[in-house]
Amino acid sequence: MKTIGMIGGMSWESSQIYYQRANQLIKEKLGGLHSAKVILLSVDFAEIAALQSAGQWDKAGKIMAQAAYSLQLAGADLMILCTNTMHKLSAEIEAKIQIPFLHIADATAAAIKTAGIKKIALLGTKFTMEQDFYRGRLANMHQLEVITPSETGRNKVHDIIYQELCQGIVKESSRQEYTAIINQLIEQGAEGVILGCTEITMLIQQQDVAIPIFDTTELHIRYAIHTACAEVATTLDK
Ligand code: GLU
Repeated sequence: MKTIGMIGGMSWESSQIYYQRANQLIKEKLGGLHSAKVILLSVDFAEIAALQSAGQWDKAGKIMAQAAYSLQLAGADLMILCTNTMHKLSAEIEAKIQIPFLHIADATAAAIKTAGIKKIALLGTKFTMEQDFYRGRLANMHQLEVITPSETGRNKVHDIIYQELCQGIVKESSRQEYTAIINQLIEQGAEGVILGCTEITMLIQQQDVAIPIFDTTELHIRYAIHTACAEVATTLDK
């Protein structure tokens, strides 16, 4: 089993889900006392969020690249970044390391394509919903048609992420806001919805929504576990 390097803390509410699911999935796969080999480097999200809102992406990029480099030095065999938004800086990270970087949007797109879906709604931070680094990758690399909420809806989705979910606050009223926004996207033809922020899984589950959900946290960690166990799986399959 390979060692997964995780850049986490953005927010720690979702990093703990990554850590827990990694171990649960390894236990399902290998049984007994097996657990995931993980090195977690967790940043202070207040510092990162301040850089995001000030548009200081170059500084944030240096922090991400340094974190990735430290994880590689510490012995990680592959790398994941436990947030969708900070994949804006994936090029800076990849330039600093020699080990594989598993992009969250690729894990998500693979599941969407397997489901035979072409037109997909995207919920996440405003950075993720509005900028090209994420929706552009889905459209250009994976040939998906991506739709997002109206500006009012995008502001609502974004604010609930930072003011509530990243602080561990899960409100029924926010769940209703999200489902109303998703219903509007269904009216616009969405065949599925990407929970494109690693905390949305705390708020929205499949039973809340009439179309398939694509939970980026779960899909990303499954991709990492699959990659980490590639050799083990081959041995077990024999
Ligand atoms: N975890 C969130 C995401 O997946 C938002 C926090 C951040 O800005 O990194 O985008």
